[in-house]
Amino acid sequence: MKHSQIEEKQGKQGDFFHTKHGFEKADWHQHAPSPQQFQPAYLSSPEFIKNGYHCEELRDGFYWVTSGGYDAAFLVTDKGVIAIDAPPILGENMLAAIEAATNKPIVKVIYSHWHSDHIGAAAMYGPNVEIIAHEITKELLTRFPDPLRPVPNTTFSDSYLVELGGEKLELSYKGANHCPGNIFIYAPKQKALIKIDIVSPGSCTFMHCDASENISGWIDAHKQILEFDFDFLVGGHITRWGTREDVQTSLEYFEDMLSFAQEALKEFCTPVGAAVFFSTAPADQYSVSTENWINSMVNYVTDKVLSKITSNGQKWEERLAGVTTNTKYHAYTIVESTRTERSHWGYQKRGTGGTNYFV
Ligand SMILES: [Zn+2]
Repeated sequence: MKHSQIEEKQGKQGDFFHTKHGFEKADWHQHAPSPQQFQPAYLSSPEFIKNGYHCEELRDGFYWVTSGGYDAAFLVTDKGVIAIDAPPILGENMLAAIEAATNKPIVKVIYSHWHSDHIGAAAMYGPNVEIIAHEITKELLTRFPDPLRPVPNTTFSDSYLVELGGEKLELSYKGANHCPGNIFIYAPKQKALIKIDIVSPGSCTFMHCDASENISGWIDAHKQILEFDFDFLVGGHITRWGTREDVQTSLEYFEDMLSFAQEALKEFCTPVGAAVFFSTAPADQYSVSTENWINSMVNYVTDKVLSKITSNGQKWEERLAGVTTNTKYHAYTIVESTRTERSHWGYQKRGTGGTNYFV
């Protein structure tokens, strides 16, 4: 959408933000534009605009399919197709992409993880496909049934080899990260890796570390991705597939944030540091002072990350899309995960009096 069209529509849509409570409306004038690397050519092609999806063969029968926001993949073999994920936003465009590439039937489906936004159209593959996923994914889909996400009929714990028509996909699980049961899917011949909701190539990823559950595991998964010998990473989002360099860049950004979060916690969790913020509201409005305390750390991290000149001499907003909007959300998540998942700098000792905010 053109900038002039956005301004034209802003008057009407702006009303949704004229509320007494909640977040203020973001103003695009105050944010950095996406770097060129985040805007691949297909986004403006008439074919993509008409069809609503883009598909390309990355190597030897391994295809990448994207809606421009969500992506998935499939592998064509002599004995049929292995489909990986089924994001609802792609929906039957996934079938269209497969049918345009081959007349072989879809015989196997792999779920990367149990989240509905990545597999919520899986029912479209029909009842005759083998569905392969981690055993935790099966447990979650059995516990929270969804007719659009059929329960897997083949599961594994640590690793599993999918073979069809002479092609191979190596599945492995390395513990919880984005969510429990989120697996690595690797095509060794094509050197393609599918690892969803960790790195969003070219961008700083969606808010709150892509709404992830185990942030230590999520940051660690960047390093686990780099242990694979791959030329193509399908990350689940946003506009393009990724390279090793994309993973290294994302890791550098989040490691910066992690080290600033540790600084912030060390500074603001001392008895003196915390007391400053806990004096910003009366005792019966403890949540106001808590918000000031947490937000002071979030602001510290956000400011440090956005001001930093990074390893290649550029600021983060020049390297990754979305940092001027999303860094504050990531900062909140990383400060909180550092508080809950990592070690503290002490604990209350008896006989010292008061409450000493080692939190
Ligand atoms: Zn997810």
